[in-house]
Amino acid sequence: LTEKLQNVFKNLRSKGSLTESDVKAALKEVKMALLEADVNFKVVKNFIKTVQERAIGQDVMNSLTPGQMVIKIVNDELVNLMGDETTEISLKPGSEITVILMCGLQGAGKTTTTAKLAGKFKQKGKKPLLVACDIYRPAAIEQLQVNGEKQGVPVFSMGSGHKPLNIAKAAIEHAEKNGFNIVILDTAGRLHIDEDMMTELVEIKENIDVHQSILVVDAMTGQDAVNVAEMFNNKIGIDGVILTKLDGDTRGGAALSIRAVTGRPILYVGMGEKLSDLEQFHPDRMASRILGMGDVLSLIEKAEATIDEEKAEALGKKIKKAEFDFNDFLDAMEQMRNMGGLSSILSMLPGVGLPSDIEIDDNAFKGVEAIIFSMTKEERSNPAILNPSRKKRIATGAGVDISEVNRLVKQMEQMKKMMKQMPGMMKGKGKKGRFR
Ligand code: GDP
Ligand code: MG
Repeated sequence: LTEKLQNVFKNLRSKGSLTESDVKAALKEVKMALLEADVNFKVVKNFIKTVQERAIGQDVMNSLTPGQMVIKIVNDELVNLMGDETTEISLKPGSEITVILMCGLQGAGKTTTTAKLAGKFKQKGKKPLLVACDIYRPAAIEQLQVNGEKQGVPVFSMGSGHKPLNIAKAAIEHAEKNGFNIVILDTAGRLHIDEDMMTELVEIKENIDVHQSILVVDAMTGQDAVNVAEMFNNKIGIDGVILTKLDGDTRGGAALSIRAVTGRPILYVGMGEKLSDLEQFHPDRMASRILGMGDVLSLIEKAEATIDEEKAEALGKKIKKAEFDFNDFLDAMEQMRNMGGLSSILSMLPGVGLPSDIEIDDNAFKGVEAIIFSMTKEERSNPAILNPSRKKRIATGAGVDISEVNRLVKQMEQMKKMMKQMPGMMKGKGKKGRFR
C-alpha cells in the first residue's frame, strides 16, 4: 500500500519549480516524439532549445508531475508556434477580385485542393472561378473540369497551347466580365523543385495581382517538406500552406517544419480524396497529433480541470511541513477519485503498462477510507492519541481487523517521517519523472 500512497503523493505534493534535470529528462522524450513525427532535425533542435530555456524555473502546477509540466509547456509552445488559432484565407474587400495562386510539387494535391477550396468559397456565398494553368500533364485540365463540375464551380481553360501567364490573364478578364470574385489558379508541379516551374510562377506573380499564394504540401513527405517550403517561399513568396493527405498515418511533423521555416500559417488540411475532405487547421489538435504521447494531454487537461488549485496548494504546504493528517488523506483520495482513480490515471500514461509488481487496486483505498471514516475528527487530525481501545473501536466501526488499523497508523507515521526529510528527497524523486 505504501507504494500506492506514494503514487498519490506524486500527484499532490508541491513540486516548486522545474529544475534543469526535470526539463532535460522530459525533453528527451519530446525530442524523440518530434523526430518520430518526421519533424525536420534542425527544427527539432531549435524548438527543444527554446523550450528548455523557457521551462527551467517555471512553477509546476500542483496537479502535475515535473515531466507532465514540461509536456504541457511543450504543447503550449507547439500551439503557439503553429499559429495559436485558425487562420482564414485573406480575401480582397468588396467586389474586388481575389486571385489565388496554388503551387506545389506534382502529386501534392493542388488540383484536388483547388476544387475543395472552391466548394468552401461557394458555401460562403462567393463566386469562384477555377483556372486550368497546368498545361503539361495531359489529364490535368480534364481533372480540374471534372472536379469543378462536381462542386458546381465553372472552370476556365484554354487547352495546352498557351502560356500559363496568358491563361491567367484571360481568366481574370473573364471573371471581371462575368461577376466572379475569386479566381483560383491551378498550376503545374514537377516531381522535384526545378527552375522552369519557379520561373513560370514568378512570371505570373510579377505580371498579375496575385493576392494569395498558397503552397500545397503532402503531409506524408515528412522531412522533404522543409526544403519544399523553403524553396517556394524564397523564390515566389507564399502566404499560407495547405497540408494534404493528413488522413494517412503520418503524425504530420511537416506542419511544424513548414511553419517554423516559412513563418507562414497553415490554413487548411486535406483529410481525404473526397472534395468535402478539407478542414480548417487547428493548431492545438495538430500539436497533440505531433506529440502523439498517448493521452498525456487529456490527462493534463483532466488534472487541470479537477484539482482544486487552492486545496492542492494548502495540502502541498502541509506535506512540506509534515503536518499531513488523516483529513488531508481523505481529501487526497477524493481528488484522485475525481480524476478517475489511480488505475485510470496510470493507464493514460504512455509506456506505463501497469507492471505486474505493482497491482493497482482502487478498492484498496475503500478499506482505508472506511477506517478513516470511523475515526473521530480529533483522531483524524491527531493520530497520536490513537490508543489500543480507540483503535479497537475504529476497527469494529470499519468492519476490519484491528491489525489493519495498526498498519494504516504506522504507514501514516512512516510517511510523516519521510516528509520530514524533504525537500531533498522530493527533488530526487521528481527527477525520475513519469515519462519513460
Ligand atoms: P497535384 O498534382 O498537386 O494537382 O495533385 P492532385 O490534386 O492531382 O492529387 C494527387 C493525388 O492525391 C490524387 O490521387 C488525389 O486524390 C490525392 N489527394 C489529394 N489530396 C488528398 C488528401 O487530402 N487525402 C488523400 N488521401 N488523398 C489526397
Ligand atoms: Mg494538378
